[in-house]
Amino acid sequence: QAKAQGCNTWYCYSTEVKAGSMEPLRLRRELADAINQQQLVLHYQPIVTTDTGRFVAAEALVRWLHPQRGMVSPAEFIPVAERTGQIIAIGRYVLQQACQDMADLRRTTGRCIPVSVNISPVQFRRSGFFDELKAILQASGLPPEQLVLEVTENVLMSGTESSIELLHRIRDMGVGVAIDDFGTGFSSLSYLRQLPVNKIKLDRSFICDITTSRGHAAIVQGIITMAHHLGLQVVAEGIETEAQREDLLQRECDLLQGFLFSRPVPMTALLALPEHPRG
Ligand code: C2E
Ligand code: MG
Ligand code: MG
Ligand code: MG
Repeated sequence: QAKAQGCNTWYCYSTEVKAGSMEPLRLRRELADAINQQQLVLHYQPIVTTDTGRFVAAEALVRWLHPQRGMVSPAEFIPVAERTGQIIAIGRYVLQQACQDMADLRRTTGRCIPVSVNISPVQFRRSGFFDELKAILQASGLPPEQLVLEVTENVLMSGTESSIELLHRIRDMGVGVAIDDFGTGFSSLSYLRQLPVNKIKLDRSFICDITTSRGHAAIVQGIITMAHHLGLQVVAEGIETEAQREDLLQRECDLLQGFLFSRPVPMTALLALPEHPRG
């Protein structure tokens, strides 16, 4: 574990491995163990308001605590799990755990932290997803308004009518929908107009050089302005510097998420964050 190697936080990435360097078959087998042996854990990253910096929501991000390899990043194992179908079990676990964590928090402390959960296209397109979502919400007791599903643009592009219909049912239930990694796919803002979504999350690749690339700054400004005209909230991902925060404040971006405020952390650490996390 990272802690044994002198890190002050056990969830730091010092032991992160590239699962890509693991044999696919072995990875697949070990991932099956991970699901059965409860090696998957959720970390949460706060989302703050741009103007006041207040902590208002959190995104659930899954981690694999591998017994020998340490923490494996979801960027490494989610794509494999999508190919093998293991994402179905993983996705169900994540949704259940996130709803349970926030419902428990509400019951025991009265505190509400709306939570965003990433939904893989494989999971979203599978028949029965809606019923599963409903059952999970009911079992946890979390009010649907406290949950946001993050889907990527391509889910909606290829999904045609059935995906849009499903989004409507999800929204009618009270659950929010955000488009993740916005700007990296092929959807247009005019297409967004037809979609029942509440917010878009600007991809980190636009944010990292927003203060140095005029092109990216112009794209970001255009997206924010048009999203607001469509009545959508905008969240910027990957905020690492004060300059980026100030830039996005000028551009009237609604919400921010990034290492400047906090890395994704275990639930207990999330609860210990101040109301206005900075750096
Ligand atoms: P995402 O949903 O776009 O999540 C944001 C990613 O950006 C997270 O990486 C987060 O740790 C990282 N990040 C946040 N702020 C900063 C920053 O300031 N700087 C930098 N460099 N990175 C930042 P993470 O946790 O490694 O997750 C990567 C991706 O894996 C996620 O991207 C999401 O697509 C996927 N993922 C994570 N958890 C789940 C899950 O439970 N289900 C599914 N289907 N996918 C998941
Ligand atoms: Mg996300
Ligand atoms: Mg994203
Ligand atoms: Mg991303």
